[in-house]
Amino acid sequence: MTRHHRRQTAPLRWEGVDVREYKQEGSAPFRDVTRQVLFADPALASELRYFEVAPGGHTTLERHAHVHAVVIQHGRGRCLVGGRVVAVAPFDLIEVPPLTWHQFRADDDAPLGFLCMVDAARDRPQLPDAEALAQLCADPAIAAFIRS
Ligand code: MN
Repeated sequence: MTRHHRRQTAPLRWEGVDVREYKQEGSAPFRDVTRQVLFADPALASELRYFEVAPGGHTTLERHAHVHAVVIQHGRGRCLVGGRVVAVAPFDLIEVPPLTWHQFRADDDAPLGFLCMVDAARDRPQLPDAEALAQLCADPAIAAFIRS
């Protein structure tokens, strides 16, 4: 194994890449998510991570000034972005603009795996307060998504 070439050793697992529980500072609510950092080089201004959400799991509902570029790789699920809930499947592309509420949820019977490109230096995610949650939940589709 060299850092120039890391083989995929099992589906969506790579040589020398640790599979970590997804954690954030504070008590950000998420469920059954792992994170692998695939590329993080000081010479690059971005990082590429692979996230996997287990069936029925979800990432944190959050927003931040930095953006995400996401490519779905595996499984099935839905995502909230730009005030809409959309179904996502392998090789769909999702852009999360600045200060846009977003969350990824795996279907109950499938995992959801995706690549996520992000600024190496980035601001801390914000979580919705009661007012922001009420605004989001004014849309019944979003209310059902967040509560599912
Ligand atoms: Mn985010």
